[in-house]
Amino acid sequence: MPRVAGKVAIVTGGAMGIGQACAELLAAEGAAVVVTDRETEAGKKVADAITAAGHRAMFVEHDVGDEDAWKKVIAAALKAYGKVDILVNNAGVGWFGDVEHTSLDDWRKLLRINLDGVFLGIKYAIPAMRTAGGGSIINMSSIEGLVGDPRIAAYNASKGGVRLLSKSAALYCARERTGIRVNSVHPGYIVTPMVERGIESSDNPAEMRKTLEALHPVGHMGKPMDIAYGVLYLASDESEFATGSELVIDGGYTAQ
Ligand code: NAP
Repeated sequence: MPRVAGKVAIVTGGAMGIGQACAELLAAEGAAVVVTDRETEAGKKVADAITAAGHRAMFVEHDVGDEDAWKKVIAAALKAYGKVDILVNNAGVGWFGDVEHTSLDDWRKLLRINLDGVFLGIKYAIPAMRTAGGGSIINMSSIEGLVGDPRIAAYNASKGGVRLLSKSAALYCARERTGIRVNSVHPGYIVTPMVERGIESSDNPAEMRKTLEALHPVGHMGKPMDIAYGVLYLASDESEFATGSELVIDGGYTAQ
């Protein structure tokens, strides 16, 4: 029996990286998937490939920091598939900047996507899920939502915010007995276009890759499917007692 058979999932930032892996795995395990992203061509390709593999998917162009765009995404999911059971708030950006040298403009740009985007997703998914009789919201935080790094002030703030926003929303939904669960996921470094861009833009990419690998006690970075399997668990009814929890998948990074 597929693990999320008959469910409808929205995956933001599904055009590549972790979001793509989540969309592909949820679809392979029986969900109809709404892939959303601001990268239209890449997003369409992901949805088309899922459909070509015999599963259900569609693409919707989406800027997660735009409130009206969220209303359209939820409406598109309801129109195409009739309900929303799963929301993976995955879209995110990251760049370097310590607290002293980050401009207010850069701070706001990052928070608009990584934190406002997750807030809006939760806000608009709850009414749709309430109607469906429950659901699972999975918010992509990071190891950087658990521990500080002096080089990434805004990213740390956004991912720490996602962690506690998830708990607040989880308690709100639990108290209402909506059947809606909210959890956060905390990946270590995962080899995706985001991380590859960071490595390639460094002064010595080969050295940077080794440094990042060595940060993980297991000796290597993760792959998108390592995270997608955790998301699948939280999306499925297997995790029906899990809410307000933090799923750390980091090769031991934060165990030290
Ligand atoms: P990625 O490879 O850059 O993929 C993210 C996707 O989200 C891209 O298609 C990106 O488009 C899209 N996106 C960015 N801003 C958006 C917006 N405003 N609206 C809609 N889509 C948007 O990133 P990833 O590494 O897979 O990361 C996915 C999530 O996991 C992020 O929240 C990230 O912070 C988190 N995370 C990643 C790692 C890691 O090591 N990779 C570790 C911990 C947590 P653009 O290419 O145009 O930006």
